[in-house]
Formats: sequence, structure tokens, C-alpha cells
Amino acid sequence: MCPQIEQTLKDVFGFASFRPQQREIIEDLLAGRDAFVLMPTGGGKSLCYQLPALHRPGVAIVVSPLISLMKDQVDALKAQGIKAACYNSALEAQEARQVLARLHGGELDLLYVAPERLMSEDFLGRLRELQIALFAIDEAHCVSQWGHDFRPEYIQLGRLRQKFPGIPLIALTATAEPHTRKDIIARLNLEKARCYLTSFDRPNIRYTVLEKKRPFNQLLDFLDGRREEAGIIYCLSRKRVEQLTAKLQEAGFAAASYHAGLSGEERSRVQEAFLRDDLPLIVATVAFGMGIDKSNIRYVVHHDVPKNIEGYYQETGRAGRDGLNSEALLLFGMGDVALARGLIDNSQNEERRRIENHKLAAMVGFAQATGCRRRVLLGYFGETLAADCGNCDTCLDPPEMVEVTEDARKALSC
Ligand code: ADP
Ligand code: MG
Repeated sequence: MCPQIEQTLKDVFGFASFRPQQREIIEDLLAGRDAFVLMPTGGGKSLCYQLPALHRPGVAIVVSPLISLMKDQVDALKAQGIKAACYNSALEAQEARQVLARLHGGELDLLYVAPERLMSEDFLGRLRELQIALFAIDEAHCVSQWGHDFRPEYIQLGRLRQKFPGIPLIALTATAEPHTRKDIIARLNLEKARCYLTSFDRPNIRYTVLEKKRPFNQLLDFLDGRREEAGIIYCLSRKRVEQLTAKLQEAGFAAASYHAGLSGEERSRVQEAFLRDDLPLIVATVAFGMGIDKSNIRYVVHHDVPKNIEGYYQETGRAGRDGLNSEALLLFGMGDVALARGLIDNSQNEERRRIENHKLAAMVGFAQATGCRRRVLLGYFGETLAADCGNCDTCLDPPEMVEVTEDARKALSC
């Protein structure tokens, strides 16, 4: 027990109390133990390493896959008066030198580093001369081929555990079904770490799947009465995003596109307007949303089938962070499944394709489920529900089971 952590929680971070598991995880790190944290998006993973970084001597080294995520976090920390910096390829040579000087001067509480930078011999050599509070590997699923966002540069992080024995290491992720979970632990050598698994259930989100027939009309029906509410519509390609935005604008909706083909300036403009509640509706590819923190998103629509349940769960999970009732709608068409399969077949090696096909099949299984939708979703992540959820389309309006005649049965069995 460390009484000061309560004080830091209030004084530095401005929170009244810990969220579930945060205290236990923080106390583990303070006691020098490793931790593996599986917590849904928005659950409050960052605090689990940011707070102990302030209570252990030395600098905490945080690994994060995206420069934009690092920057957002560092800006937020600085605003709270915490001494934090980034070290990545976005820095000018002069800035990079300044960061290193502060690192060696013992002036930093937290340093966010890109994985390839961290694992360079030069940087590891520097770290050996310094006192390190802890290592944190955020978005740890990036280390696994089984994860939906594999990044080869994460593989090298497996060497950290042996290279710095005695320094606590925490790995965190929001998306790990049991295969991925095991793989992360093995690759990062976290066999001794304590595992923290928080429930992935989001009871306030209602999951609905509609067979895609006339998607635009189905969308208009859904959006009826929701013009003022904040929402995201995900599409599989940039082209579909552009087309749908144009149609929605024509129908009088205040909607804007977001995808990786737009300029950085345009993307920030759209994102800012959405965060400020000046723009209710964003039509986007999966490029949108990572790291955004907006609590009042009332609905997330998947206009096309997502490639895997991890992505679907993460994207729908952006709705209803405030705990109020929210909707997740999927327009499911077999044509889109074929399209998604085509995208997989064109990419990468055979092993990867096998995994991605397996994941797509699980996604289709979810969309075609006749029982409780939430049960299938949570089951995928290794959780079991005690009872049907009562807040998904199949619970609220169970599909009619068709009487199968003897003839039909024969036809089906051959
Ligand atoms: P994750 O990384 O798990 O998706 P974050 O660390 O980004 O989640 O936290 C999500 C939000 O929850 C942030 O706005 C953060 O400030 C807030 N938060 C975290 N811990 C607490 C807490 N103990 N009390 C209140 N808000 C919290
Ligand atoms: Mg996070």
C-alpha cells in the first residue's frame, strides 16, 4: 500500500478515484513486478504506467506505435505539469539532441519512444547509464502476428525483459483474443507477469446487424432522428467514404470524410470539429479514431463488414464512453465479405492470409449469429456471459426459426 498514490491521482491527474484494476496494477509496478493488462479502450490504461512513473526514481520509457498517439499523450502530460517528451523520427536533429540532453540530465519523468529507436544499440547503451523507473509497452498486440495491427518493429521489444532485469515492465492492450494474448506474453517474455483482464462488456451499446439490401435507405432510416447526435460511419475504402459523404451531404446531413488520403491539415480540421461538437457525423475508413477521446458518440455504423472482430469491437467501442445508451449498427452483405476476402488474398504471406481469413470467418459468424450477439462478441475474447444480454437485436427481436421440411433437410444435407 502506498498512500501517496491517492494524492498524486487527485493532485496531478485530477481524478477522484481509481477505475477498476488501476490501483492493483500501479501497486504491482511500484513493487517492481511485471504486469500484462488487457483492458478495453477508454478503460484508463495510460494512468497505470503514468502514475507509477512519478513514484519510482528515474525515467519511465513508454513505447507506442504511432507518432500522433505519442504526441497527444505527451501534450496532455505536459499540460498537467508532468515532465514528458517524445523521441521519434518526427523530431528535428536539434530537438532530438535537446530531448537526449534532458534524458541524461535526469529531467524527464516519462519518455515516449518509437520501438525501432528504443531497440537501437545506441539508445540501449544510453539507457544502461540511466536510472529507469519502468518500461511500458502500449498497444502491445502490435507484437503479435495474431493481432490485427502487427508491426514488425515491435518484435525486437522481446529482448527488453532480459536486457533490463529488475526493472518492471508493463504491456497493455485493448484487443487480444486468447491466441493473441498468449502470443504477446511469449514474445515479450512476460511469463512471470501478473495478468489483469478486465471485462470487455459494454452493456450500454446495443448491437444490431441488418442484412444489407438498400444500404443508403437503411442508413437514412437509422439516422432518422439522429441528425444532431455525434456518430461515425465506417466504410471499407476511401472511395466509398467519399461517395457516401457526398450522398449524405446532398440529403442535408452535416457530414465530413476522414481517411488517410486527405492532407494532415484537413484531417485535423475534421477531427477537431467533431471533438468540439461542431460537426456531428464523420464518414471514415479505419484510419479514424485511434486515440480519440470523445465521450458522447451516440452511434457507430459499419456500412461494410469489418475484416475482423477486434477492429469491429474497437470501432463500436468508441460509442457511449459516457455510459449512456448508444448504438452499433452493421450493414452486412455477402458481397462485402467477398471484397474483404479479395483484399486479404492480395496481401502478405501465406501464414498471415490464413490468420486473416480465420478472423474474417469469425466476423461473418458474428453477423450471422441467431443467438445473443454480445455472447458471440465476448466469447471471441474468451469471456462467457451468465445470461443473454437483452440489449442486442437478436435478444430484443429473436429471429424466426424456419421450419425445415423433410425435402429441404435432404437438400441441405447433400
Ligand atoms: P485507454 O488507453 O485504456 O484507452 P486512456 O488511458 O486513454 O484509456 O483513458 C481514457 C480516459 O479515461 C481518459 O480521458 C482518462 O483521462 C480517463 N481516466 C483514466 N483514469 C481515470 C480515473 N481514475 N478517473 C477518471 N477518469 C479517468
Ligand atoms: Mg491507450
